[in-house]
Amino acid sequence: MMVLLFMPDTKIIATMGPASAHITVLEKMAKNGLSAVRINTAHAEPGYIASIKKMVDEVNKKLGTYIGVLVDLKGPELRTGEFPGGGFDVKAGSKYVLAPEGTKGDVFTINHPAILNSLSTNDLILMSDGRFRFRVVKSEGDSVTVKSLDSGKMRDRSRINVPGKYLDLGVLTERDMMFLREGIKENVEFFALSFVQKKENVEHLQKQIMMNGGDQLIVSKIETKSGLQNIKTISRVSDLVMVARGDLGVELPLEEVVVAQKKIIEESHKYGVPTIVATQMLESMVSSSSPTRAEVSDVTNAIMDNTDCLMLSEETAIGKFPVEAVEYLGKISSYVEEKVADFREPYEFLGNRVAYSIAKAAKVVAAEIEADGIVAFTKSGNTAKMISAVRPCVPIYTMVMDSHLGRKLNLFRGVRPVKIDVGDYQGNDLYETIMSAEKCLKLRKGSRLVITSGAPNFLFGGTNDVMVSTFGKFLGRGYPVGKSFRGKVAGNHLKGDILIVNDDVSEPRDEFKIYRGIIFTGKASHDVMDSLNAMGISVLYNTKIKEKISEGDQIFVDGYTGIINS
Ligand code: PGA
Ligand code: MN
Repeated sequence: MMVLLFMPDTKIIATMGPASAHITVLEKMAKNGLSAVRINTAHAEPGYIASIKKMVDEVNKKLGTYIGVLVDLKGPELRTGEFPGGGFDVKAGSKYVLAPEGTKGDVFTINHPAILNSLSTNDLILMSDGRFRFRVVKSEGDSVTVKSLDSGKMRDRSRINVPGKYLDLGVLTERDMMFLREGIKENVEFFALSFVQKKENVEHLQKQIMMNGGDQLIVSKIETKSGLQNIKTISRVSDLVMVARGDLGVELPLEEVVVAQKKIIEESHKYGVPTIVATQMLESMVSSSSPTRAEVSDVTNAIMDNTDCLMLSEETAIGKFPVEAVEYLGKISSYVEEKVADFREPYEFLGNRVAYSIAKAAKVVAAEIEADGIVAFTKSGNTAKMISAVRPCVPIYTMVMDSHLGRKLNLFRGVRPVKIDVGDYQGNDLYETIMSAEKCLKLRKGSRLVITSGAPNFLFGGTNDVMVSTFGKFLGRGYPVGKSFRGKVAGNHLKGDILIVNDDVSEPRDEFKIYRGIIFTGKASHDVMDSLNAMGISVLYNTKIKEKISEGDQIFVDGYTGIINS
């Protein structure tokens, strides 16, 4: 059953950590529009994925949500090891020795010691998203001494960047493979791959997922110069693309990151590939209960850049206000979505034309008839993906046969997954399936919907059809003059909202004045209809009633189609 929870079109991802990995916190986040959680495996231990997945399952079950789990694999990411006592006081001007993980003493341990050989005197090394700068002062083989230019406390497993240097560290480490297997076992929805430099990196992960029996979607993190240069070929083979601004802002001059963000989003959308804008979205909320103006501006612009998802990192992993951070993203998203109603579809599209043109048709029809939503029956998820890509102005109710697919599609902008039980026959009876969709959707009677399906043999898969349908039992039909109306049917003595008149009427009658709408089963003169319309009363004339309508019945009359529904 779908619970009608607050759900902005722009999707929200929250990184899990000590601040958020509690069922009560997760539940509050879910109620504020959370779509997926991220597990940053840099800070995870074996068993962590299972423990998060269990909590997410529980929340999904309780609230009827489709929160997915994204496991972020670090790939060839260079990081410090752990410091004794869980942190390290760095002093500007002090010298430090870089050493392989496991080395004892007053040293900086690093996870890929092989790179020590490729460092030379005067190289600039950045740590912790560029907050700490170090200069190499002595480099003798694998013994490298650096001098700090900044002071502060550094966290365990802080990121290390050597901007401009191409460090070939392979694709997946042993640690990554361990988390990959755990993620597949736990049936998570997404794997993110850090430091994607070329499409072969993504293909390598794809193969590993397949070989281990997984079906996860791949999020390619663009966070290096080469990743950005290869965005066209990378996005083509990716399921989602992340603008990983933390590292990108260290690898590129900072002023280039915003333009890169727009380019990455635009290129990915050409293939209908959704995007995630990540890192420092609401950074000040790590310690403050409200964001800065600049942060709100950044989030607003990311949404106007047409991103599908926004991601929180430290804000929800270790921050003091994890729920408030999600709440702010939700508030900003729903405000911007209302104001900017018209989001751009890709100006150029390079994928499957059939699915794309069906999606565009659904969008046009939905706008034209002022539909309440698009209902997409989807087997592989492709139809929902394409409809999301063309950015319709209404919600995309995505009917899926399994929740795991629903949770995958929950990172596509505007998609609202709904599981529908159609048994083995995959819903080849259109009427039956639409009736059960109605039950799951809990939309009001008389909702006008655009339905895409694989007619006539299977509703799911091979989408080739766009149709318009009105929810509710069909009671009759007439010719509408004026707007749609709904309400209680008035009888002889009872006052109500809608009057049914069974004879021909050529003169306005006084009694008509108090009604919201009038249904004439016979003829009514244009004079009568015009004067009723002028009083704000809508009319249906020449109406053929198919099912008995009784005094007190709640009905809906569609001002476009003239259809009466219960
Ligand atoms: P990270 O990735 O948090 O795993 O480093 C995101 C980023 O670099 O922005
Ligand atoms: Mn990163």
